[in-house]
Amino acid sequence: MSECRRSSQPDTHNIVIMKQIPDRLHATLDRIARATDACGRNADDVRLLAVSKTKPVEDILSAYNAGQNAFGENYLQEALHKIAQLADHPIEWHYIGRLQSNKTHDVSRCFAWVHGLENLKHARRLSEQRPSKLPPLQVCIQVNLSGEASKGGIAPEALLPLARAVAILPRLTLRGLMTMPNPNSSNEAQRAVFASLREHLARLRNADLDVDTLSMGMSGDLEDAIAEGATIVRIGTDIFGPRQPKPTADG
Ligand SMILES: *Cc1c(COP(=O)(O)O)cnc(C)c1O
Repeated sequence: MSECRRSSQPDTHNIVIMKQIPDRLHATLDRIARATDACGRNADDVRLLAVSKTKPVEDILSAYNAGQNAFGENYLQEALHKIAQLADHPIEWHYIGRLQSNKTHDVSRCFAWVHGLENLKHARRLSEQRPSKLPPLQVCIQVNLSGEASKGGIAPEALLPLARAVAILPRLTLRGLMTMPNPNSSNEAQRAVFASLREHLARLRNADLDVDTLSMGMSGDLEDAIAEGATIVRIGTDIFGPRQPKPTADG
C-alpha cells in the first residue's frame, strides 16, 4: 500500500479557522440530534461524514481530535496526499468524488467507502483491485433522480440490475444508495428526491438485497434528508467553512 504511506509535513494554516472547527463540528452534531429528534429517530442512526475536500490536513486533524473519524474527499490526488500524511491516524476515508477507470486502483487501496458508484465496469475493477488484506470496500450506488444528464449517478430504471450485479462481487459490500439533489431546487423538490431514494432502497430490500445505507443530505439540506431516512449525511461547509475553488491539477 505504498500509495497510502506518510509523505511530507503538513502545511501551515490559519490558526483561527482551525480553532473554530471543534465548535462547528459540535454544532453540526447538535443539528443532527435536533433533526433526528424532530422525526422520532435516534441520533445514533445517522452518521456524520465530514467532507474535507480542499481543506488542509490541519483542519482534518482538528476535527479528528474533537472526535470525528470519518472523512469524505472528492479529488483523488489531493485525497491521496492527505491520507498519506495522516496514515498514523485510524481515520475512515470515504471517496465521494466521481469515479473513472483510471482512479479505481488508488480508490480501492486507500479508501474504506465509495459513495458514487454508477456502473458495473467500475464496480468490477474496484472488486478486482481491492487488496486482500483489507476488508471489502463498502459501496453505495449513486442514483440520478434529478434527470439531468450532466449529474452523476445511474438512471433509476437501471438500479436493480446494477445492485444485483454489484452485490455478488467478492471484494465489495453493497451498503445502499447515494444521491445529490440539484442544489438550486426548492426544499420541497429536494425532499422529494430524498423520499424517492428511500423508496428505491426499500425496493432493493424487497428484492432481498441486504442494504442499510442512505447517503444523502449536505450542509444546506440535512434536516430534510434525515426526515426522509438518511443514515449518512455528508457535511463540508458547516464544519470547515466555505471552500476555496477545486484544486487545478486534479480531477
Ligand atoms: C462537497 C460535497 C458535500 C458537502 O457539501 P457541503 O454543502 O459543503 O456540506 C457532500 N457530498 C458531496 C458528494 C460533495 O461533493
